[in-house]
Amino acid sequence: MNTVVYPGSFDPITNGHLDIIKRSAATFDEVIVVVLVNPHKKGLFEASERVELIKKALEPIGDVNVKVECFNGLLVDFMKEKNAKIIIKGLRAVSDFEYEFQMSLMNNKLDPTVETVFMMTRAEYSFLSSSSVKQVAIFGGSIIGLVPDEIIEDVMEKVNKKIKER
Ligand code: ADP
Repeated sequence: MNTVVYPGSFDPITNGHLDIIKRSAATFDEVIVVVLVNPHKKGLFEASERVELIKKALEPIGDVNVKVECFNGLLVDFMKEKNAKIIIKGLRAVSDFEYEFQMSLMNNKLDPTVETVFMMTRAEYSFLSSSSVKQVAIFGGSIIGLVPDEIIEDVMEKVNKKIKER
């Protein structure tokens, strides 16, 4: 079985991420979306909350071949645990390339049996990132069409809570 792993911070999941998940699910047997915990980066959502938001966003798709998990450690160790050999990455622009190129070489160095497969973003999502969504939300802009409808309220609620705490 061709299991692929789609790693990221997903803080929160955007429509760009969702598009990559759907296209991967249509191409491979099984997709495991993994929220990687970065101890040096404090996000808007806790890792467990991000997992719940991804699951919520996937609900309308129904019971397909996508799993969502959270992992604290090296991606190649997660891959071994899952017996998966392919990492899926989305590419938005040339600016993503350098970082993703480095990461893919590093992962391949750590485990030469692991390959990274890049999927180009759809043009309409090429400007979209979790951080741009957060910026828009913080300054009161609409995030409709940027994140899955199912999680809009959760994102707005969290952003407003953070603003009040300041
Ligand atoms: P972000 O850059 O939005 O914070 P992540 O770090 O969670 O996102 O990214 C996880 C993966 O999803 C990376 O491979 C990233 O290049 C990809 N990705 C992020 N946004 C998009 C998008 N709009 N279209 C395609 N791929 C994307």
